[in-house]
Amino acid sequence: MLPTDCGSSDRLLTLGEAVAAALNTVQPIQAVETVPLMEAFGRVLAGDLPARLDVPPHDNSAMDGFALHRADLKLDRPTRLPVVGQALAGHPYRGTVPRGVAVRITTGALTPDGPDAVIMQEQCRIAPDESWIEIEPKVAARIGPGENIRRRGEDVQAGTVLLPRGSRLRPQDVALAAGQGIATLDMIRRPRVAVASTGDELREPGMELSPGAIYETNRHVLIGLLRRLGCAVTDLGILRDDREAVLPALREAAATHDVLLTSGGVSVGTADLVKDVIAELGRIEFWRLAVKPGKPVTFGRIQDCVVLGLPGNPVSVMVSFLVFARPLLLKLMGTEPGEPLRLRVTADFAFRRKPGRREWLRARLRFEPERGPLVSIYPNNSSGALSSLSWADGLVELPEACAGIAPGDAVDYLPFSGLGVE
Ligand code: AMP
Ligand code: MG
Repeated sequence: MLPTDCGSSDRLLTLGEAVAAALNTVQPIQAVETVPLMEAFGRVLAGDLPARLDVPPHDNSAMDGFALHRADLKLDRPTRLPVVGQALAGHPYRGTVPRGVAVRITTGALTPDGPDAVIMQEQCRIAPDESWIEIEPKVAARIGPGENIRRRGEDVQAGTVLLPRGSRLRPQDVALAAGQGIATLDMIRRPRVAVASTGDELREPGMELSPGAIYETNRHVLIGLLRRLGCAVTDLGILRDDREAVLPALREAAATHDVLLTSGGVSVGTADLVKDVIAELGRIEFWRLAVKPGKPVTFGRIQDCVVLGLPGNPVSVMVSFLVFARPLLLKLMGTEPGEPLRLRVTADFAFRRKPGRREWLRARLRFEPERGPLVSIYPNNSSGALSSLSWADGLVELPEACAGIAPGDAVDYLPFSGLGVE
């Protein structure tokens, strides 16, 4: 049984338990939208996309040069071949090229019927008026069958699965679909995610700071991360630490969104009312994880809306988004959450800690020719130090049982790029 009660349990949920439990409660969005190719970046394919065409659709030249018959090439003396015409990209040579002659050809032009090789122009002697070419025996000896010819279907074969259902399309995947002449794709509807920050001390950038106030940062990191992930984001702004402000905002957002992300107001302070409002409007599935930073993460539901209450500290927000919220959102989007890329590298730092919680340190990887990949950490490990995240290019992950790190130890490094943050 999962320890789900609010705080009295001795044992906190591990990240693995929490992610597994949360993934179990969310179902991928089923709704499908037909979208133009140029709007498909980052979105998820609703079904397998079959290839309709062979690519390339015809044999064509990989080089600028001359199409010829290999059997015409002499290996004991230079071969001189008259040039009888040209094949340009988009302007095929009409007819069959007979033995004993060559045709000028450009990259991407259809190879005319007859020739079985293309010789690069740099490898020929070309008559000043281009009426003939001459090929030295040592060059001729190196021309293999099909030399510099790209065969029909060598890239993609019609009928094969071009991209499987659930693919989150990167630019090269969209290009692959374009190469099939496909103009629109059936994609899963993007998750609608609402984001709110809570805290009486928070001010919008651009406003005056009164004593005790700070500028709001968490929505900026969350909305940026959500947009990169391919979510449709609603910004609910800053909510006051007041039940009368938080309750209606969460109730309304929950009615029209798949996911509600809040930051702040979930720890044990007196003003930590987000948790209570979630419990009042819906239910809390679990609260508090054996992680650092991000311990007070709260997972719940208001009707059909998944609610993630992230802690207020800026580092906790980003880390808990990446390790906890991101897999849930990916599942919702209809794609495999998978495991983030993890590299085992050498620690170039010492770190003391108490075992018990999984911990992430803001880290930077570098390569030294003598020592290989080395990872360093930011000197300030405070969960309030946003500058540590800006400095870092990834996270060092310390397992629950880890009792500390000495220089030279092997540690797991998770590059931000593997977590969708470039
Ligand atoms: P809380 O979880 O609400 O107790 O907040 C923990 C810490 O994070 C406090 O120092 C807050 O001032 C700070 N904090 C909370 N929300 C934000 C935010 N949206 N932007 C910047 N700092 C925040
Ligand atoms: Mg607060």
